[in-house]
Amino acid sequence: MKITVVGTGYVGLVTGTCFAETGNDVTCVDIDVNKVNKLSNGQITIYEPGLEKLFERNLKEGRLHFTTSLAEGVAHGDVIFLALPTPPGEDGSADLSYILRVADDMGKIITDYKVIIDKSTVPVGTAELVHAAIAKNCSHPFDVVSNPEFLREGVAVDDFMKPDRVVIGTRSERARKVMGDLFAPFVRQGNPILFMDEKSAELTKYAANSFLATKISFMNEIAILCEKLGADVDMVRRGVGSDDRIGKRFLFPGIGYGGSCFPKDVQALVKSSEDADYDFKILNAVMDVNERQKLFLMPKISAWFNNDLKGKHFALWGLAFKPNTDDIREAPALYMIDALVAAGATVSVFDPEASSNVERLIGNKVTYATNQYDCLVNADALIIATEWSVFRTPDFDKIGSTLKNKVIFDGRNLFDVFRMEELGYHYESVGRAATN
Ligand code: NAD
Repeated sequence: MKITVVGTGYVGLVTGTCFAETGNDVTCVDIDVNKVNKLSNGQITIYEPGLEKLFERNLKEGRLHFTTSLAEGVAHGDVIFLALPTPPGEDGSADLSYILRVADDMGKIITDYKVIIDKSTVPVGTAELVHAAIAKNCSHPFDVVSNPEFLREGVAVDDFMKPDRVVIGTRSERARKVMGDLFAPFVRQGNPILFMDEKSAELTKYAANSFLATKISFMNEIAILCEKLGADVDMVRRGVGSDDRIGKRFLFPGIGYGGSCFPKDVQALVKSSEDADYDFKILNAVMDVNERQKLFLMPKISAWFNNDLKGKHFALWGLAFKPNTDDIREAPALYMIDALVAAGATVSVFDPEASSNVERLIGNKVTYATNQYDCLVNADALIIATEWSVFRTPDFDKIGSTLKNKVIFDGRNLFDVFRMEELGYHYESVGRAATN
């Protein structure tokens, strides 16, 4: 099939590459000239495990092309995916301007039947708006389909190649057939393709992300209660997660959710609810809890240093909003850095993939170490903000002999509390007892 993907970021590049991998002829369009040049020259622009190999293979075999020309992309694709940004607007609603501008332009250049697919996360009613924006300038037949994306950064290729489910919102028989054929290779193990109307598909994505964010905020509150009551959240988590109705996943407490999706999607669903004259109480609480949770470690750090962080130096491990990605959008680590610097401390940071993105954003506000142990030199304590595997079994002797004091504040509960006590660390984490 001839496929075009408009927007070549985390979702678009994975989508384009994975469709090329199943034999389709794919053109990716992006407005960013620099990005298109790099990709055309075989240089991948994001860190995503497993993607580079597929990208290189499909580029070499001529199934993957990149262009800045929307006209070229529209002429190429029988199906056109929109994987464009939908950042939060000032009032918290999803900003649809990227999508509607492209839809407007596409209307002027479509000359034969196209299936146009919203892959971006968009509020209920967007398929109708996109349809109207295209139809304004276009007399040729086309369908607009909602096909929300559920991939997780860090495991995006696997998620795309073997999705738990594919959600397709369309009431057009013609588009339904095209979409069914397109996704058949990805659900050979029997996972469902769920066909539904456009609005239900649009809401499914927000409901899924909001539910996952709720699970996280709920466990973060349980963790706070654990500390107050003397329970251990790890034990509680295991006890709770063993119930099949609840499940083991997404129950890990920490310093809050971040990334480009959960914060903006929860906020957008709250705004959609308000617009529909409904006060979505649970989601407002989910957002409040997450705001507080991002700085959960700060009072602990402050208290340990007698409420005076002026002149203190901290090592911070982990900048990406989660492991296995270089994405730093809404990363809790950035909030920690702001708070530490505002309190008069200095910070040295290390992340296996995300340091250059942080450097582009905040420059010399912090210093950048090239490995996790150099980061510890002259630091009064180590703070952990992201659960990269490489942080899980570190050389504790080396940490202890490099840090000024054997003190660790762990926002991701990576280590066993008793082990840390044995090793002589002052160790504080989330929802578990501190060691002395
Ligand atoms: P992104 O910012 O990484 O990528 C968007 C791309 O669109 C950028 O490369 C940008 O240059 C390009 N772009 C902007 N305007 C353009 C235009 N007029 N023409 C062509 N290209 C243009 O965003 P993302 O993370 O890939 O997210 C895209 C959408 O998918 C969002 O709605 C997001 O909520 C949703 N989503 C993201 C994820 C995720 O994990 N990142 C998962 C599921 C859904």
